[in-house]
Amino acid sequence: MVARTIPVESFDLVIFGGTGDLARRKILPSLFRRMRAGQMPADARVIACARGKMSRKEFQDLIRDSLEEFIPAPEDRPAELVDAFMDALEFVTLDAKGETGWAELGKKLRADRVRAFYLSVGPSLFGTIAQKLHDHELATPESRIVVEKPLGHDLASAKELNRQLTANFDEHQIYRIDHYLGKETVQNLMALRFANALFEPLWNAQHVDHVQITVAESIGVEGRGEYYDKSGAMRDMVQNHIMQLLCLTAMEPPAKFDPDAVRDEKLKVIRALDPVKPQDTVRGQYRANGEGSYLDHVGNPDSTTESYVALKVAVHNWRWAGTPFYLRTGKKLRTRMSEIAVVFKEVPHSIFPEVSARKSNALIIRLQPDEGITLRMTIKDPGPGGMRLREAPLDMTFADALGDNPEAEADAYERLVMDVIRGNQTLFMRGDEVEAAWAWTDKIIADWEDDHEPPQPYDPGGSGPEDALALMHRDGRRWREVDG
Ligand code: NAP
Repeated sequence: MVARTIPVESFDLVIFGGTGDLARRKILPSLFRRMRAGQMPADARVIACARGKMSRKEFQDLIRDSLEEFIPAPEDRPAELVDAFMDALEFVTLDAKGETGWAELGKKLRADRVRAFYLSVGPSLFGTIAQKLHDHELATPESRIVVEKPLGHDLASAKELNRQLTANFDEHQIYRIDHYLGKETVQNLMALRFANALFEPLWNAQHVDHVQITVAESIGVEGRGEYYDKSGAMRDMVQNHIMQLLCLTAMEPPAKFDPDAVRDEKLKVIRALDPVKPQDTVRGQYRANGEGSYLDHVGNPDSTTESYVALKVAVHNWRWAGTPFYLRTGKKLRTRMSEIAVVFKEVPHSIFPEVSARKSNALIIRLQPDEGITLRMTIKDPGPGGMRLREAPLDMTFADALGDNPEAEADAYERLVMDVIRGNQTLFMRGDEVEAAWAWTDKIIADWEDDHEPPQPYDPGGSGPEDALALMHRDGRRWREVDG
């Protein structure tokens, strides 16, 4: 199948924090891949800013090394394309908090291009940079500004952040990245639901027994200990990524596939979430298994921050009344995997009573590893041995349909950065969505703080604390295996 890549308009992309980890690991390699795919125009420019003094050549060398590190196969980095990419890179020494560099940045920006400012720096600089862009008259009415989590620590700080951004940029200019929304399969979830007649009639409490959303990580806090310990799984994962997956699964069909129509429907889901009862929440913290515990990794022996959370959530609306959504995420689990499982009800009457252990249908939307969609079906066991039933997956990973289309492999950041340039906000969070998610999350965290119960220890390499299993068992259900 031939990939259809439509080049975007020419652009100047300014990356504040252009020498940092996110820029080197994700943003710049993604842009390189978009150049390789023919989507980044030859005269587009990327202007990196940071305080460190560096010549343009030194910055280009830094990014050449980053491409080698993060796009390891030499055949994916043809020398002439790497050189062309280097030509697109500029560097400005700039202090977001001071006056250094702003005038130089202004001189590099061209008037007739899409202009985007990617704030790949700590959130304490977001407001300052937005203000400086305004003061130095670098932001035009159509410029985009891109920010990424953490978008606040609670509702109050998220509101303050939104206030700082909207003081200088209109909401239509603000792109809040949640990279989960850039994943191919997450968008396929919308296509599956809203472009096919098959699933939507079944997508409700009458037919869906429950939904499970899992984001499991096998790594621990890995050098992010100080940040993570102030945040925890609830703020780091549930408030943003898992909430977005929940919204896309539960939302009503929007009237059209347009940014505000989609985001209005997602917001309605967040507002329909019941407050979660403390007994419907489980907090865990991984203990030592020779490699050190969570407490060792964050260097805080008294920490009560959770590295695991499981929740039973109710979406209080007509479509979902009575269908629980079980959410879980944790570090140091058996494997890295993220999926949404929509588990359907059993048939109302079985004509095969002898096979009572049969499993109900489930639609599994897997985000990682191996993005794809599978429908769990029950079929007849082949052969003449009588009417025996067995479970079989109907694989809808689309691999056959899409052939070896390299576009299907595109990283979430590739899609999202191109959407910023195209001016399409559909896959970005709106300010009111972020605030509504915090309002819901804050209540759960406040209950935990009132409760003073420490998180339950769990063994690294497993599937989480005992109480999380019990959360499902008491409803007569069980979690799907955490496996790769
Ligand atoms: P990082 O590696 O510490 O990089 C920070 C960058 O900002 C550096 O280029 C730094 O260069 C620059 N910087 C710091 N203070 C500055 C100032 N006053 N003026 C101008 N530049 C300044 O951080 P990171 O991991 O890339 O993360 C950046 C942001 O993205 C953070 O908010 C983080 O939470 C978020 N994020 C990161 C990831 C990730 O995978 N890394 C994922 C999601 C979200 P100088 O020191 O030379 O100024």
